Amino acid sequence: MSENLNPFRFYAGGERIKRLVDLDLAGKRVFLRADFNVPLKDGKITDDTRIRSVVPTIEYLRAKGAKVICASHLGRPNGEVNEAFTLEPVAARLGELLGIDVLFADDSVGIAVVREAKELKPGGVMVLQNLRFHPEEEANSENYATQLSQVADFYVNDAFGASHRAHASIDALPRVMKNRAAGLLLEKEVEALTQIINNPQRPMMSILGGSKVSDKVKVIDALMVKSSKIFIGGAMAYTFLRALDVKVGSSRVEADKITLARKILERASTAKCQIILPVDHLTGASFDNPGTPKVTQNAHILDNAMALDIGPKTIELFTRELAGAETIFWNGPMGVFEKPGFDVGTNAIAEFIAKSAAKVKVVGGGDSVAAVKKAGLEAGFTHVSTGGGASLEMIEGAPMPGLEALKRKD
Ligand code: AMP
Repeated sequence: MSENLNPFRFYAGGERIKRLVDLDLAGKRVFLRADFNVPLKDGKITDDTRIRSVVPTIEYLRAKGAKVICASHLGRPNGEVNEAFTLEPVAARLGELLGIDVLFADDSVGIAVVREAKELKPGGVMVLQNLRFHPEEEANSENYATQLSQVADFYVNDAFGASHRAHASIDALPRVMKNRAAGLLLEKEVEALTQIINNPQRPMMSILGGSKVSDKVKVIDALMVKSSKIFIGGAMAYTFLRALDVKVGSSRVEADKITLARKILERASTAKCQIILPVDHLTGASFDNPGTPKVTQNAHILDNAMALDIGPKTIELFTRELAGAETIFWNGPMGVFEKPGFDVGTNAIAEFIAKSAAKVKVVGGGDSVAAVKKAGLEAGFTHVSTGGGASLEMIEGAPMPGLEALKRKD
């Protein structure tokens, strides 16, 4: 990456984001905004990737003698205390990962929390209760941010997955706390995506899947000016195929987005970006009871059939056309990969990218990342983003409140 595009050197006209190495941490209390928004089932963490991803930052801070006060949101408690969304299991898991006792505070603000933070020993770690138990968090309240600021001397944002949200712990708090920096995970995420946005190694090709065209319009528009090809799979492919008068049977189509899909295809053609759609499919009888997957002869789908995955000819076409890419960006599954038999396309794409000789291979988005992990293919990617929504918004060029608030003039 050329130096003047690196946000940790220069950011938007001379404003740069401080890094951990810029902070004098010994004995200091650090408010670490992490993204501990992990999936839970019956109170148990089913995937601890987001906790593991912040461990290097916590270890760094501990090694420098800082007292680490971790804070995060979890789920959608809608501003109320709700034990189903307590961060206590996260504190316990973090303790196991670090091999130390991690203190858990049952609130994020208040005199008791401030005292407990002060009493931490250098290298000590505590986890605050779910920030979203306070409605002021999502309201981006400066008053709540000021209360949060009482627990620490420094602010570190390592919550890339939440940095597209203007919430108090992401936006108002770093504006209140002058000593602020990016954590190691945030830095890694921003560096990887900035490279794709500003300076991709070409040819760049993008693969988009998932459920809705409406969610991905802006990202398709942003990617078509950088990518020579965009491959579209998942449910949104059927709105595009309908726009081209292909018979889609009972497949999911956003009827009010067909005209938009047609316009996107026109814009891509003007931008000299080839949009490549499925040429065959795996179909089922219905979404809830698909039965055994059936392969279609071509792009057309029978009236009573629902396309739930891309077919073998499409896999062949996509992988053949992807050969020669230097940069590959992938977001969204190619089918209903959660259902047995309809994960073939998503797995084939994951495997192809993992083996590909492309120099930059980035995957973002909860479902596609889950597929990569399930197949044990993470090592085949140059970057696996922890923030699906955040990575898409960054690529779209949307303002990232968490990054804006960290900027400073030096
Ligand atoms: P998104 O959240 O937009 O990335 O979409 C992911 C969801 O799209 C997953 O839950 C998939 O099951 C779903 N999906 C992918 N392909 C299809 C399809 N052909 N029909 C219905 N849903 C799909």
